[in-house]
Amino acid sequence: MSDLLMKLAGSPIGAGVVKLLGLPAPVELARSKGPYAAQPLARKNVLLGRSPNGYAIDRLWVIALDAGAVSLETLPENAAPGPDILIMDATGCTTPSDYRALYDFFHPWMRRIARNARVLIVAGLPAEAKDPVAAAAARGIEGFSRSLAKELGPRGATVNLAYVARDAVDRLEGVVHFFCGIQTSYVSGQAVHVTSRVTAPALAALRYHEALKGKVALVTGSARGIGRATAERLVQEGAQVICLDVPAASQVLQETCNAIGAKPLAMDIASPDAPRQLADFFRQRFGGLDILVHNAGITRDKTLAKMAGKSWDQVVDINFSAVMAIDQVLLSEQVLRDDARMVYLSSISGVAGNFGQTNYAATKAAMIGYVAAQASLLATRGIGINAVAPGFIETAMTQDMPFMAREIGRRLNSVKQGGKPRDVAELVTFLCTPGAYGISGDTIRVCGQGLIGA
Ligand code: NAD
Repeated sequence: MSDLLMKLAGSPIGAGVVKLLGLPAPVELARSKGPYAAQPLARKNVLLGRSPNGYAIDRLWVIALDAGAVSLETLPENAAPGPDILIMDATGCTTPSDYRALYDFFHPWMRRIARNARVLIVAGLPAEAKDPVAAAAARGIEGFSRSLAKELGPRGATVNLAYVARDAVDRLEGVVHFFCGIQTSYVSGQAVHVTSRVTAPALAALRYHEALKGKVALVTGSARGIGRATAERLVQEGAQVICLDVPAASQVLQETCNAIGAKPLAMDIASPDAPRQLADFFRQRFGGLDILVHNAGITRDKTLAKMAGKSWDQVVDINFSAVMAIDQVLLSEQVLRDDARMVYLSSISGVAGNFGQTNYAATKAAMIGYVAAQASLLATRGIGINAVAPGFIETAMTQDMPFMAREIGRRLNSVKQGGKPRDVAELVTFLCTPGAYGISGDTIRVCGQGLIGA
């Protein structure tokens, strides 16, 4: 999708014009085209910092170095190149005075942090804090992290926060790989919760590289757009992917499957027999299902005053009722295997609401409530369930928006540009890996830290 301002800012003459006019100059975001590397942080310069009494630092060092990162700590500050990755163990922040460690770690490097750098801050879970002051200190780190994300965003850098439970520090590996890796391009200013509530998968299956070999995946609404990008990404990690879309899209669906190496399934998820057909299909063909991505979704935008009842019903039927009906059968009949991963496409509209989208926003917020409620019910089976809320993503849908609305959507975020379907696919894919077993019940936005719903 063409972003004129980005093209202009990327050319030698255009960059001058952009500067002269005082326009934002979005940088080219680093993105990966391929599957995960065996060493996802190879040759990246890393710095680790710690608040007093931080309890995750040793684990974080091991993870970073095992992933191929190079420590900058051995070099004198002036001789060292700018860091590509900064990881801060703030789990020991329990009083206001502990905050000084954040300043002391980040401040000296702020002007030298590389383009497309990655920052991950690890904090204690506020719910586990020993008193209200400690809870405040832990929660306050989110304000720091989100503000830092806004400061570094124009450089294409991402800043994210992982709240980690004391007994879940050993679940940080996948989290570090993703949030310090190239795949997190358009995910910034987010806070995830890493806990031990989901039963751990077999250790051998925890690896990030080739993580999905032998897994069977269903992606709904995947003839095009975000669904297609997600299916393609899951195939790259070795999953056997079934792409589902409406019968009317059969030809495009077939072309997509041919192009990415997936199998088509023409079906309307809102048809009354869809749940039964899906259960029979996966049990008979594959003996079960490991990954379910509920991506299919529609909009029928109008103000509530002008909205026809039919538009209301269509959106609720497809985005909400159909998803519940399918899950009810796949879960109760245990078609979804132990250790399965379930991901739901929500939206920033579901986080913050949006003009003319009362129907759509209700269904997308419903996904946020659903994953939060289901997470503990599915945890003992090792099933992880999360929602992903995209912001402005460059798809056919957003291309059709009026020029001004599109430009506003593109620029009102920390990286001053729209995301790509691939960016959403990266986050969904990470959540489908065994290594994401610490995260369940969360909603993570992939919006370049969009200001809407910030
Ligand atoms: P899209 O319209 O390009 O693709 C959606 C696909 O779902 C289409 O192929 C469509 O045929 C299919 N579909 C619709 N109804 C179906 C049904 N009843 N049964 C089976 N398939 C059906 O949309 P997209 O932009 O790729 O968005 C994918 C998901 O992400 C949606 O749930 C959407 O709400 C969400 N989302 C998108 C954006 C964005 O900026 N593009 C932002 C926030 C959320």
